[in-house]
Amino acid sequence: MQEALALPTFDDVVDAASRIDGVAHRTPVLSSRTFDERIGGSVFFKCENFQRMGAFKFRGAYNAISHFDAQARAGGVITYSSGNHAQAIALSAKLAGIRATIVMPKDAPAAKVEATKGYGGEIVFYDRYTEDRDAIGRRLAQERGMTLIPPYDHPHVMAGQGTVAKELIEEAGPLDVLVVCLGGGGLLSGCALSAAALSPSCEIIGVEPEAGNDGQQSLARGEIVRIDPPRTIADGAATAFLGNYTFPVIQRLVSRIETVSDAQLIETMRFFAQRMKMVVEPTGCLAAAAVMHGIVPARGKRVGVIVSGGNVDLPRYAEFIA
Ligand SMILES: *Cc1c(COP(=O)(O)O)cnc(C)c1O
Repeated sequence: MQEALALPTFDDVVDAASRIDGVAHRTPVLSSRTFDERIGGSVFFKCENFQRMGAFKFRGAYNAISHFDAQARAGGVITYSSGNHAQAIALSAKLAGIRATIVMPKDAPAAKVEATKGYGGEIVFYDRYTEDRDAIGRRLAQERGMTLIPPYDHPHVMAGQGTVAKELIEEAGPLDVLVVCLGGGGLLSGCALSAAALSPSCEIIGVEPEAGNDGQQSLARGEIVRIDPPRTIADGAATAFLGNYTFPVIQRLVSRIETVSDAQLIETMRFFAQRMKMVVEPTGCLAAAAVMHGIVPARGKRVGVIVSGGNVDLPRYAEFIA
């Protein structure tokens, strides 16, 4: 069924914006004089750590479910996720009044598992080092008559995530550079559609964890490169490959992909806590870390940075910050 869908365009982002209007938060765009002085440019942080359920994923999940017809609604939604997409689907399903089943790795952060249960999602666990979540999701979807909404490789998910950059550019104005974290590429591809339409001369840069640079390798080789599941504190970007929908959009619109280390993520997390009074999860720090450490040069530029989420176990967070 997914194969029948076309690649999303900016029109789909505009459509998604109207579907999530009044349901998703229009998150704040913040700046920091300290950060700007340090890098010598003007940075606009789009703070999706303040989004409902704590990450941008609510946008794509809600948009996808809003397209369900009566039959799909009766069957319910199923997905697999290392966390935030699970919560996003569980909350969106609850708001839409339909059932949700979530296939989750056994080692998913406890806060994310609890939050998903709290939104009423049914959880099925798997081992992400030995089992294929996509296969499990597809099998259960068939057995249970549910519609599978994957975490990133789906046009409605991508279009929903694209509303992040749409709002950012509408509020901050045209940008010289847009920096977006990258897991499977739902957020980056969707935001690229918005930036290309609303700020055409803006350079679009993806950032992924050093331990899992499959996106960087994929752009270099011109095809989707698969890697072993990376071990990084950026659990939301620990994906092993880009999607069949996300990759072509990224290939067309994104100029390059950079990487940052876990140590750089921790330093950025501390900065957000101390200077901006924000709890940001490791994955949410990817784009800011690249700018803060000069991996993406920002001198004299207007830079959009997406802060993608704030869901982190507090005891772990305390260790990072200590
Ligand atoms: C899912 C997620 C990402 C990565 O998004 P993709 O669409 O998979 O690239 C980044 N940050 C957070 C907080 C996430 O939950």
